[in-house]
Amino acid sequence: MDLSYGAEAETFRKEVRAFLGEVWQPGDRRKGELKEFIRSFRREAIGRGYLYRSVPKRYGGSEQPVDVIKAQVIREEFARARAPMEVGGNGVNMTVPTLLEKGTEEQRELFIQKTIEGDYVWGQGYSEPGSGSDLASVRTKGELSADGTRWIINGQKIWTSQGGSATHMFMLVRTEPDAPKHDGITYLLIDLDQPGVTRRPIRQMTGMEGNDTFYEFFFDNAETPVTLQVGERGQGWYVSRTTLKHERASIGSADGLGRQFSKLVDLAKEMGRIGDPLVRERLTQIEGFVLSHRYTSFRLFSCSAAGEDPGPVQLMMKLLLTEIGHEMALLAQELIGEEGLIEPANAGARGASTQTRGPNKWLDQIMGSLGNSIAGGASNIQRNIIGERGLGLPRDLALENEHGGGKK
Ligand SMILES: Cc1cc2nc3c(=O)[nH]c(=O)nc-3n(C[C@H](O)[C@H](O)[C@H](O)COP(=O)(O)OP(=O)(O)OC[C@H]3O[C@@H](n4cnc5c(N)ncnc54)[C@H](O)[C@@H]3O)c2cc1C
Repeated sequence: MDLSYGAEAETFRKEVRAFLGEVWQPGDRRKGELKEFIRSFRREAIGRGYLYRSVPKRYGGSEQPVDVIKAQVIREEFARARAPMEVGGNGVNMTVPTLLEKGTEEQRELFIQKTIEGDYVWGQGYSEPGSGSDLASVRTKGELSADGTRWIINGQKIWTSQGGSATHMFMLVRTEPDAPKHDGITYLLIDLDQPGVTRRPIRQMTGMEGNDTFYEFFFDNAETPVTLQVGERGQGWYVSRTTLKHERASIGSADGLGRQFSKLVDLAKEMGRIGDPLVRERLTQIEGFVLSHRYTSFRLFSCSAAGEDPGPVQLMMKLLLTEIGHEMALLAQELIGEEGLIEPANAGARGASTQTRGPNKWLDQIMGSLGNSIAGGASNIQRNIIGERGLGLPRDLALENEHGGGKK
């Protein structure tokens, strides 16, 4: 099996590496200076065609032809040099592609450049208390103002990631109460800095709250101009299905799992359990899952590079990633022991962390692994999708919507 990317890709790799060697010199700048430096670094990288490849130049992108191999080489080289890639979050991952596909010229001009430069941060306003998997049952109401120029919004959204820093939200609101469930929803963009919007942090079971963790939002006669409606009125459900189509294939997630696994092995060593035959057996099993996930990622990547449809396996990746992450978390939990869970600081003090933030990083990971099985479409829903779309099984009558694909 040939796992190399070919001569052309390797020439391109040298070019990217030389660029990074020359331009990515963060030195020991202070926080504010570093932010400015990163901004100008990103601009240069855009100028070279390395970032925002699917975004047209007129909106600040580099407008490159789709090339998953080049995109992968760029990701690898930027990771190797620890250089920042594109600004993360919902804005770049969801708002920008949605506007490129379904937005008006005015919306693109207003939002895309500011979003890719990190000035606008977007919250995803989909879930509500009582509307998660059954997303099409959203009840937050949108009504036209008397003069027909504005949408007036009343209701509540919940579990909004990045809710503390969000400047804007893309949201689903019910505008046709009498239409069939999926047809009565409109997709709106809204500025969150207005009197009709209240945000409240939700404290998580890890103890974390604030900034980039969960928020809930209350809308009390909040307003947005009708010109910020994306797609047709009542067709918001279909707009929300718009996802990234280009250059999605990446083996990045598999690399992440590999790194996480090495840290788990380190944890077993730190806890003096690496010689325990039961621990070794579980580590071996997990390593098997990690490697098979990695090779499946390679397969998907090759299919994407060759323009082929990989079939149902693509639908399984999120579920598998979630389950492998959970297996690792369960073993980490056992290695740390009850004491570590009751007094989280202990486990952190032993240097058992895998992440870079949070009071106790293994604990975050253990609890976060539960969240991953819910975020972006719960695992049960994913199983239904695999069964129905992938394997052609009869439809689950209890499931009247398809919540899996586009949610974070
Ligand atoms: C880390 C994280 C980040 C998130 N970020 C956002 C965000 O930014 N914006 C946002 O809008 N939302 C966000 N969410 C919310 C997320 O989309 C919802 O939690 C998710 O869709 C599930 O909805 P729910 O919590 O209402 O659970 P429910 O839909 O009530 O599901 C509860 C359980 O019932 C099962 N279930 C439900 N229906 C079926 C069925 N038909 N068949 C079989 N089993 C079923 C589910 O699998 C689950 O186990 C986030 C969630 C997490 C965990």
